[in-house]
Amino acid sequence: MVTDNPITRFDLASAESMPDSTMTELQYHSYLVLAMFVLAALTFVSLLRVTAPYGRHLRPGWGPSIPARLGWVVMESPAVFVFAGIYWLGVNAQGMVPLLLLGLWQFHYINRTFIFPFRLRESGKRMPVMIVAMALAFNCINAYINARWISELGDYALSWITSLPFAAGVACFLVGWAINQHADTMLMRLRQPGDLGYRIPHGGLFRWVSCPNYLGEMLQWLGWAIATWSLAGASFAVFTIANLWPRALAHHRWYRREFAGYPASRRAVIPYLV
Ligand code: NDP
Repeated sequence: MVTDNPITRFDLASAESMPDSTMTELQYHSYLVLAMFVLAALTFVSLLRVTAPYGRHLRPGWGPSIPARLGWVVMESPAVFVFAGIYWLGVNAQGMVPLLLLGLWQFHYINRTFIFPFRLRESGKRMPVMIVAMALAFNCINAYINARWISELGDYALSWITSLPFAAGVACFLVGWAINQHADTMLMRLRQPGDLGYRIPHGGLFRWVSCPNYLGEMLQWLGWAIATWSLAGASFAVFTIANLWPRALAHHRWYRREFAGYPASRRAVIPYLV
């Protein structure tokens, strides 16, 4: 049992009754989490209208650009370094549950920042600086929200490890990670070095959806939200869905437009449904 269910430590109501100069960090953090949910809603609506201009959707008119590989390293770095720095400032940084959560986070982000970009077959591909800057800012804020929660503001007793949400959340995270990795690896293998073209992916979860890598990523952060049982984690899961769901729809439309023989029964991101 947790001594203080972490999800209840969301504290906007009392902020209104406090003298304005005495807003606590928990209240400040709660406002940021709330802002994340609002940002997710705005992002979702915007991305349904305008597809983010990178990868196959790269197009002129989005300002200066840098090599895509460099873009990935720069924009994802705060998720490793800012997260670690803020985590170690927390009073609960040595706790077993926070350490396990730190391990999960870094397991994903060290790969995403320093390994994934160098596995990409994207010689010459570029990414607008605007995309890099927006993702960099998001990753800084998101790192603060989640790292501060698990090592300082949340309250995880050792017994949380044997709780159902923790076990289910970690399982969901790892299944999502495996799906994401497998799908990304299959996509990378579609190209020979120097090749910039696109092919129809077959096999694995591509039998059912166009973007199993996004499905895996969404499951991962859903798992994180469940394992941390927090609005901090939930805000990131919701943002990830808001970001990747419209992109999966855009990829799916693109495949159907570009390839006459694209499998008709394949969905965008949720097997049999969407
Ligand atoms: P994509 O699926 O668009 O592309 C992944 C890589 O595979 C790119 O190098 C791409 O090349 C290549 N590729 C994709 N489809 C094909 C194809 N049909 N034929 C040949 N090559 C192909 O993923 P993203 O670049 O959008 O994202 C990469 C990773 O980052 C994913 O795992 C995703 O889940 C994660 N991500 C997470 C986000 C979050 O909110 N947490 C946000 C964005 C991404 P090219 O670049 O040339 O198109």
